[in-house]
Amino acid sequence: MLIGHYGPAVFDTQRGHAQPIVKLWEAFLAVQAMDLVAGVLVMLSIEGGGVVVDGKPIFHIPWSHSLLGSLVISAAAGLTYKAMRKKDGWREFWIIFGLAFSHWLLDLVVHRPDLPIYPGGELLLGFALWDLPWIAFALEASLLAWAFWFWQSVTVAKNAKYDWGLWALYAFMLAIHFTFVVSEGLAVQAGTYDPNAAPPDIVLGAMFLVVIGVFAGLIALIERGRKSKFAD
Ligand SMILES: [Zn+2]
Repeated sequence: MLIGHYGPAVFDTQRGHAQPIVKLWEAFLAVQAMDLVAGVLVMLSIEGGGVVVDGKPIFHIPWSHSLLGSLVISAAAGLTYKAMRKKDGWREFWIIFGLAFSHWLLDLVVHRPDLPIYPGGELLLGFALWDLPWIAFALEASLLAWAFWFWQSVTVAKNAKYDWGLWALYAFMLAIHFTFVVSEGLAVQAGTYDPNAAPPDIVLGAMFLVVIGVFAGLIALIERGRKSKFAD
């Protein structure tokens, strides 16, 4: 899953408070904590793609995407956030932990079976919705649309730029998602998927990091121009 991960990111933004506990751009990074780890491990060739089962690509992601790994990464993300924000309470920790862990649950729906319980575990989980590329695309696009609509409804834009900018970002994220995720699913479905066409590990891993960074950076720009509806 790519853009669908950002659905839960709006969870804390404005649940009626004048100041979000966690900023939306920070939540954008939290929901992708697992893929940030995966990006680094792919660059180091510790994890990666290129595994083909029955003509379908699966990932080799035992560390970043095992259930155990995801719990460790989510806890580490929560602790890092708490330390950086110098917060005493555990509320921030649990919000970040929950956002980061939502990644595993959503990946479980779309991934072809490649999510182990623990690194090296033989049982691989994944309900493989990516085998139905258009339905998976509709699900992910809807999750993101819902999140943006919700956030728009609980924030007020400084000017119109921050309204249409949000939906321009939506269109951009949809286009990126189509290019990297849906097109591959369609090729697998058509039987024309070529595993040798995948970029080398270092490029693939870097692409993960760049895409996640760009999405977070762009939402941060828009966030500067939208304040809570509940602020006075
Ligand atoms: Zn993932």
